Amino acid sequence: METCLARAASATPAEVQSVLGDIDGVPRRVLALRSYLRAGDVAARWSWTDDEIAAYERSPAHEEAMAALAWAQARFAERNPGFTLYVNTRVRSLDTQVQRWNGNASVAAAAQAMQGPAESACADDPDGFAAWVKAWRPVPPPNLAAPGLSAHGQGRAFDFQVMEGEVLVAGTDARRIDVDWIATGWARRLAEVMAESPAFKGPLTRPSEPWHYIYVPASNDAPAVVPDPNPEPESESQGTSAGGSA
Ligand SMILES: [Zn+2]
Repeated sequence: METCLARAASATPAEVQSVLGDIDGVPRRVLALRSYLRAGDVAARWSWTDDEIAAYERSPAHEEAMAALAWAQARFAERNPGFTLYVNTRVRSLDTQVQRWNGNASVAAAAQAMQGPAESACADDPDGFAAWVKAWRPVPPPNLAAPGLSAHGQGRAFDFQVMEGEVLVAGTDARRIDVDWIATGWARRLAEVMAESPAFKGPLTRPSEPWHYIYVPASNDAPAVVPDPNPEPESESQGTSAGGSA
């Protein structure tokens, strides 16, 4: 299958070929390749380099984003006395995205489920392998965007978590959505706050991630939000478990 993978990847942009080399094992690479083949304008969506992140962090666009986040946090605290909204304000680096892809159990499961059929497809029709990969539907979908394609990689998405003092009461663990976000009402209460701000759209619904909101800059010098022609389930769950943790 490595030969089929190499041939299918040879038509992808240089940044994709480079990151494929950082992904552990052929099954995870094939699963990631599927996302790259479906991604449309990969270059426009590609995660920023460290230099690009540093430049962004010195820009007015970054100040505007931080102000929008601070507003959401203040409004949430005001409406929910005793609770605060935690948000990681950093742009998620490509290295971090690769680490998570390599360690995430939902990615491992989806890659494993794809492996046998992919080997057959490669053996049956090597020339059609790229088209086969592109058409494959992982069930259930991995709850991470392929490295380089996360909206967090351009500061276009943020994950919000609910704290009570030092205690995390609603985090980014997909396995705890019903218990921590739905039953407790935090999903609704966060959505009510976010609905008051023109800067945020969400939350992500496929897959369900009540903590993940898209950031929409108001100013023209801010990075453009690139419409996604092939909406891809994009979970940002952190950590190495199926649903992530923390
Ligand atoms: Zn997210």
